[in-house]
Amino acid sequence: MGQGFMRKINTRSFHPATRTTSREVNRQILLNFVRERQPISRADLARQTGMGRSMITSLVNELIENELVYERATGYSSRGRRPRLLHIRVHDRLAIAVDVRLHQTHLLLSDFGGREIALETFRTPASPEELACELATRVQRVREAHAAIGDCEGVGLVIPGMVDHATGLIPYAPSLGWCDVDLRGMLAEQVALPVYMERDAVACALAHTWMGRASGDAVDSFVYMTVSDGIGASLVSNGMIFRGRGDAAGEFGHIPLNLDGPPCLCGARGCLEVYASNPATIARYVGRELSTREDHTRLRESEFTITDLVARARSGDSPARAALEATSRFLGVGLAVVVNTLSPSRVIVGGEITSAWEILEPVMRKALAERALTLAAAETPIHPEPTDRQTRLRGATALVLAPVFAAPRIA
Ligand SMILES: [Zn+2]
Repeated sequence: MGQGFMRKINTRSFHPATRTTSREVNRQILLNFVRERQPISRADLARQTGMGRSMITSLVNELIENELVYERATGYSSRGRRPRLLHIRVHDRLAIAVDVRLHQTHLLLSDFGGREIALETFRTPASPEELACELATRVQRVREAHAAIGDCEGVGLVIPGMVDHATGLIPYAPSLGWCDVDLRGMLAEQVALPVYMERDAVACALAHTWMGRASGDAVDSFVYMTVSDGIGASLVSNGMIFRGRGDAAGEFGHIPLNLDGPPCLCGARGCLEVYASNPATIARYVGRELSTREDHTRLRESEFTITDLVARARSGDSPARAALEATSRFLGVGLAVVVNTLSPSRVIVGGEITSAWEILEPVMRKALAERALTLAAAETPIHPEPTDRQTRLRGATALVLAPVFAAPRIA
């Protein structure tokens, strides 16, 4: 879908196109200005972008005609008529976000502003075919129930595994045990809507890039690390995701920490995931083996979650705290690999365990400091993502709306 190369326009560093370059570039710059600084007047747009008044008039009129932007009289003026301000049209443009996880799947209907309209949670069916059917039924139902609010423009799927944008397939999702699965195709056929799909860490990074606060503090270069059923990472540089060949970059959970360590679901041994994923942390606490897929299934069925473990650790249960501290140490070692090889300006850590940040951070920092090559590397800012933010779902929503706001593709 070309989505793999989508770039966000940075309204703090841009070059307005000249007559010889695409008018579309200027149109997208204006659209993003309105999005990030709304409500804004045409006069302020001209001042802030340096574009001429006639250019502004023509492009803003085009954005209004295409129903991307609307203009409304707001605020008060000491004399004369009230100023007319521009807004992005979001309230009646809807998107469905789906977060597929090992255990449960969440489905969210929201508008383009990220406002939640409906949220459903159900047990993830075992096969991709069953999941596609279940999703199709639910998508149809939630669309019909809220048709009065607006039209749904697409479905964004977040998957704990690789997504190849050239083929639309999931080449491999180790935690789900899926290989070469066409979930996107199966769902698109049944719902007759555009369906977009991304791996979880990329979706979380997109949530930061696209769904962050509009005050201009959005960060355009960072590494996002997700800790959930598995561990993934996504590198964003100047608002663009680094994807690698076949979009396969980011399987951070499978960096080897111990060549002779316990077996991982990927088939190798001693991967970071074996020591620091949520199932690994829970297994450590409850004293279970986690060598086979069956072990994972049994652990999942015990219904003791990482959220329960975090709650126990925070209320003074020392074995729970020790289990989290051990995980933090491994995460810190993993982060040292990221920091030493990529030197990101900051790292964001997402996942339920970040609720225990006061337990995690010191241990993680110590492990990072022991292996970071410079003091500056050891002091790389690491921020937890608040768990109430539904980052994966917001990332799935971003998949649907980003194509509207992304920079045009220019050769
Ligand atoms: Zn592995």
